[in-house]
Amino acid sequence: MPGAGHQIIDGERRVGTSGQTHDVIDPATGSVVESVDLAGAADVDAAVSAAAAAQPAWGGATPGERAAALTRLAGVLADRAEEYAQVETSQTGKPIKLTREFDVPGSIDNVSFYAGAARNLEGRAAAEYDGTHTSMVRREAMGVVGSIAPWNYPLQMAVWKVLPAIAAGNAIVLKPAELTPLTSVMLAEDCLAAGIPAGVVNVLTGAGRVAGEALLAHPGVRMVSFTGSTPVGKRVMEVASQTVKRVHLELGGKAPFVVFDDADLEAAVHGAVAGALINTGQDCTAATRAYVQRPLYDAFVQGVADLMRTVRLGDPRDESTDQGPLVSHAQQGRVAGFVDRARTSGAKVVVGGQVPGGALAAGAYYEPTLVIDAAQDSEIVQDEIFGPVLVVLPFDSDDEGIRLANDTPFGLAASAWSRDVVRSMRASREIQAGCVWINDHIPIISEMPHGGYKSSGFGKDMSQYSFDEYTQVKHVSVDITGEVRKDWHRTIFGDR
Ligand code: NAD
Repeated sequence: MPGAGHQIIDGERRVGTSGQTHDVIDPATGSVVESVDLAGAADVDAAVSAAAAAQPAWGGATPGERAAALTRLAGVLADRAEEYAQVETSQTGKPIKLTREFDVPGSIDNVSFYAGAARNLEGRAAAEYDGTHTSMVRREAMGVVGSIAPWNYPLQMAVWKVLPAIAAGNAIVLKPAELTPLTSVMLAEDCLAAGIPAGVVNVLTGAGRVAGEALLAHPGVRMVSFTGSTPVGKRVMEVASQTVKRVHLELGGKAPFVVFDDADLEAAVHGAVAGALINTGQDCTAATRAYVQRPLYDAFVQGVADLMRTVRLGDPRDESTDQGPLVSHAQQGRVAGFVDRARTSGAKVVVGGQVPGGALAAGAYYEPTLVIDAAQDSEIVQDEIFGPVLVVLPFDSDDEGIRLANDTPFGLAASAWSRDVVRSMRASREIQAGCVWINDHIPIISEMPHGGYKSSGFGKDMSQYSFDEYTQVKHVSVDITGEVRKDWHRTIFGDR
């Protein structure tokens, strides 16, 4: 692509005008992967203008034309899959087997899903509800969408934002997280390579408080889609309210993992360790609080401890590595802080709870960690840690298990483990979360919605439901009487 810099605006690479740069760091080694220029407010203006100029033609293309471009995009991404996996691993520290088998294929599948979904957008069928008008509902694009993404799944989050927006005929300005912008820039380039017109997908690598806030405040942006932490989500709503934008928020999580006493213990133990440690625990749906009914509690803690000790920390580029570093040393400090404070307030660390030394000392590593005996109202049970830490607590009655599962401000995801269909169905109904797994924890699928209850936000990513965020519906009402004086005019003209 012509041009220098990391901003993709109107189909060109440009250098961000903030005058600042940010070094993308490999958290496994601390070395610089790439120095990235940062966008300023002028770049936000330019990107929003480019999006506004490109949107009418893109929104006016037939669903079939948009679907064809998205299908080509899936092909371009598949051709570069290994490159994407390597870059994603460099900027996040994710094990290469995770980026190769999960992040990249999951993203490509999502692109393919939206290629199909683009052809299935519809308003509801027409009818004559009062006998004198034919009503129909048009589903229309919002216009220009501004999206802000987090660092934990950079490519997937970019795809989850960009694809429903453009499949529905919007143009988008995406701001990835400062720590992990590289695969979002690649995605914008690949949109162009696939024949998606310049200006439809713009990417700004900028700081949250600068480019992010300018995007939220920009009067040319009609909708904001944000994935990130709950505190920043509150700020997003506040800024977006000034220009009455539609807001879609995918925020933090603190997923409960409820094990009833008839559960398959071995399956629950495996599910808990994998569900807690995926992506080094930096997953908004990760299992963070396991509530285990008293008869299984001791065996569950023992089983999790034994299995956690087998998880291999190491170089994320090594195919045998199970868990890489956290995304940054700041995140490592945050995770260690939670565990250290829990320890001093009476909780017991059964496994891990340390920053490893030796060959891993230079990276942002943290050991897989199992904590017990924490109080339900302590911060390690209530707040999002975003690290490889599982807290296990006992419960007695089914009522208590479900009550504890619901006892945080979050409601993104949860799982319940039981062989009893009545218990499982009750848990799926009564746990307040946007997703409840039964006898598993983590799998997501493009056809199904992802999004929170309570302080985990509102609105859905993925699936046909995402179009409820990225489109607006219009009622069109057509008079079918042809009368000059309509019956309802009596209220104005009286008997004349
Ligand atoms: P974050 O909230 O710190 O940052 C997210 C994005 O917001 C970044 O791009 C950042 O630059 C930007 N930002 C920060 N301050 C801003 C401001 N004042 N105005 C505008 N933009 C601003 O989150 P993070 O640390 O990057 O990601 C981790 C968080 O994301 C966790 O809380 C996690 O649960 C959440 N998350 C949620 C989901 C979900 O689907 N619900 C998915 C992934 C991550």
